[in-house]
Formats: sequence, structure tokens, C-alpha cells
Amino acid sequence: MITLALSKGRIFEETLPLLAAAGITVTEDPEKSRKLILPTNQPDVRVVLVRATDVPTYVQYGGADMGVAGKDVLLEHGGEGLYQPLDLNIAKCRMSVAVRADFDYATAVRQGSRLRVATKYTHVARQHFADKGMHVDLIKLYGSMELAPLTGLADAIVDLVSTGKTLQANHLVEVEQIMEISSRLVVNQAALKLKRTRLKPLIDAFASAIQP
Ligand code: ATP
Ligand code: MG
Repeated sequence: MITLALSKGRIFEETLPLLAAAGITVTEDPEKSRKLILPTNQPDVRVVLVRATDVPTYVQYGGADMGVAGKDVLLEHGGEGLYQPLDLNIAKCRMSVAVRADFDYATAVRQGSRLRVATKYTHVARQHFADKGMHVDLIKLYGSMELAPLTGLADAIVDLVSTGKTLQANHLVEVEQIMEISSRLVVNQAALKLKRTRLKPLIDAFASAIQP
């Protein structure tokens, strides 16, 4: 049995064409079903639905043989025990610093002000501000980062941005782009050795179906 860990939503949707290239069709719709384990047209392949941030953990400890996870999630996890053969070029966005539209970020940086930064991505944020020589107090959040500058919890946030519409709707502006984000295929290293004859053709099929 091959187990693939995916998160519901954009990663699931954007992985479907890659699975199709490997001859795999998921035979149940996760938005309609309450099942957490979805069968496929291949009797020896199943999909498990987990939180996006849990995908690396499932694959690391062998709860799944492979999975699809955002670079954001992989950087926070650390990637230990994971083979990362492919950038799938899906679920693309960027990680950015954003502030309230009426907050003068450039001046705060120039004056060396100590900023409070709220984020789910504390590892990446710590590294980013250290590289800039800025002193920041990081506040770890698990959701709705946009709310932090609006309530006075923080001066800035580090969050994912794609169209910028969510920022705009909350009167926030993007002031720095930290890195481009896309999702990668991650494979359990032991599984790759033990199930190589089944996994290698799957990885090759995914590779051939990646869109530029
Ligand atoms: P949840 O929504 O369940 O709290 P989550 O926010 O981590 O979890 P998603 O919003 O589905 O889950 O995001 C999953 C992955 O998709 C992220 O880790 C990131 O790599 C990518 N992603 C997140 N937001 C965007 C976006 N606006 N555009 C494109 N890709 C995104
Ligand atoms: Mg989300």
C-alpha cells in the first residue's frame, strides 16, 4: 500500500492533475465526504487528508509514504527525515511582511525601532529580520494574522500573499517580499528504499506533469 498525505483545499485540487499523470484518480470528493482516508482507482494507493502543517510529520514518521507540502510549512518543520525530490510548482504565493496602510515601515526600519511582528512562520521571520539586522519581538499566531496590526497586537505580520486582496480588504500593505512559495513532493526516506519499484515511477510521472 502507498499512502499519500494531502491537505484539503488548494493543495488537494492542484495535486489532482499530477496524480492523473500517474494514472491515479481519487474516487471520492473530500469536500463532500467526511472520510479522512480516500480510496483511489489504484487498489494499492490511498490518500490521507491531514492539516497542511501536519503533512511533513506524517511523512517523516511513516504515517504516509509521501505527501505534498508548501515550502512555508517545510521551512517551519525543518524537513528532517524527508526526501524532497520535486518542486511541484503548485499552490504558488509569496511570503511577505505587511503592515497597516498608515504605518510608516520604512521610517521604523531606518530608525531601528523594535517592532512587534505576529506570524505563524516564526523560523522564517526570525531569520529574515536577523538578516536585515533588525530587532523584532515575534508573536506566534496560528491563524488570521491580518487581525494583529488592526487590533494593536503587532506592528507587522509575516504571512502568505497571493493576490493581495485579503491584505487590501483589511487596510494592510505589503512592504517586503521575503520569498516565493510553492509546494513540494516529500517522500519518507525509508519508504523510498523499501517501496522503490512502486514509488519511483510515481515520482517520475509527477515530474513529467509539472507545469512551468
Ligand atoms: P488551514 O487553512 O486549515 O488553517 P492552512 O492555512 O495551513 O491551514 P491552506 O490555506 O490550505 O492551509 O494552505 C496550504 C498551503 O497552500 C500553504 O502551506 C501554502 O504553501 C499554500 N498557500 C497558502 N495560502 C495561499 C495562497 N493565498 N495562495 C496560494 N497558495 C497558498
Ligand atoms: Mg488557510
